[in-house]
Amino acid sequence: MSENATLKENTAATDTAAAPAPKPKRPKPKSMIMLGEQTNALFENARIAKENGEKVGWSASIFPQEIAETLGLNILYPENHSAGIAARHQADPFLQECEGPLGYSNDLCAYAKVNLAYASVLNGESNVELPDGGKMIKPDFLLLTNNICNQLTKWYENLAKQMDIPVFFIDTCYNAYDYVTETRVRYVRAQIDKLIEDLCAFTGKTWDEERFKKIMEISQRNSYLWERANNLLDRKPSPLSGFELFNYMSAMVCNRGKESSTAVLQQLNDEIEQHIKNGTSTFPVEEQFRVSWDGIACWPYLGHNLRTLKKHGINMVASSYGKAWAIEYEDLDGMARAYCFASTNGDNATTMIARRIEALEKFGCEGTIYHVNRSCKVMDCQMMEVQRQISARTGIPFTSFDGDQADYRNYSEAQFETRIQGLVEVMRQNKEAISNG
Ligand code: SF4
Repeated sequence: MSENATLKENTAATDTAAAPAPKPKRPKPKSMIMLGEQTNALFENARIAKENGEKVGWSASIFPQEIAETLGLNILYPENHSAGIAARHQADPFLQECEGPLGYSNDLCAYAKVNLAYASVLNGESNVELPDGGKMIKPDFLLLTNNICNQLTKWYENLAKQMDIPVFFIDTCYNAYDYVTETRVRYVRAQIDKLIEDLCAFTGKTWDEERFKKIMEISQRNSYLWERANNLLDRKPSPLSGFELFNYMSAMVCNRGKESSTAVLQQLNDEIEQHIKNGTSTFPVEEQFRVSWDGIACWPYLGHNLRTLKKHGINMVASSYGKAWAIEYEDLDGMARAYCFASTNGDNATTMIARRIEALEKFGCEGTIYHVNRSCKVMDCQMMEVQRQISARTGIPFTSFDGDQADYRNYSEAQFETRIQGLVEVMRQNKEAISNG
């Protein structure tokens, strides 16, 4: 998840006189400019609300955001914020503070480590300098679901205790089936009803059914546009360098129920369509191989990931993010059902495998890169069996690398490069075998 973390290649010029002049930078597409404005507005509105005495919350990334949006609450997203800090290479002081003075384990999710240290500064208990000046303002309440992982539950419990604020929590449980049972829908729906009641009492807001319907419509439209933008990468060659879609995730993670996301995603779709029409692509070299990416982006090393793949003409055209925020439903029962089934980590292996095989076929992928993410152990846990079964069924080769979505210490550039080299050799052999009949 990214707080508008723009991909940047390391363009630092060498100091030799013979070095070629750096290529002129591609102008930022309008959709990215709009996205930057949206991100600024999110933080600014939260700041103003707090100044005006309103309560501001922090939320887990796949909490049913439409509830808060209907109530007109200002909400910020720690996972997204931590990703932004990691992508800008600002995580180190927070990681050190969390594992040192605060006494947390190195094994925790690095999003949690960055955020717990940040919260500790906001709470007056730590002195780490906040690189963004503290725009992730101190919350008055927390919104939580465990549909993405249970570590969030402990992380938020600690925040609540530390800052003496309430957590509004929806327990979805791990989904052992490839569908959502009606018993589970009723269990989650009852929690949603109670949460709305409690949240209204705590914030002084009132629930408006008509506004909820409108927010749901916006959210559905945004889900459709997000999935559509992802799907347009099935063209060969792809009109977009797939890594660029990571930049747009904040529109879905933090602003899923807002019309500003509709405008950003519509603009993004238009820009992709324009590339298709013109026969152009933002992938800067000839697309020789198409791959899928499994797991969270490795935010501190996006530039290195991209440079390495580009060197071999590999475009990442499919990722598990495409479906993660395509959450479709039409009422509160539907909301309960959809949010039980929204996150990869809440899916059983059968569902994960089926979704990935469908994507590999749809996007014409010739290989898969698995990010074995030290932070996200629940994801890694199923990944090994998933990659084995998918490869056995499809014959599509894969490689994996060790990394972390926010802790820069858990990655080796050399390992990533050699793993990609190995994948390229197998993909090339497969290509040659096909062309030789
Ligand atoms: S452990 Fe994984 S799913 Fe949970 S918050 Fe961290 S990155 Fe997200």
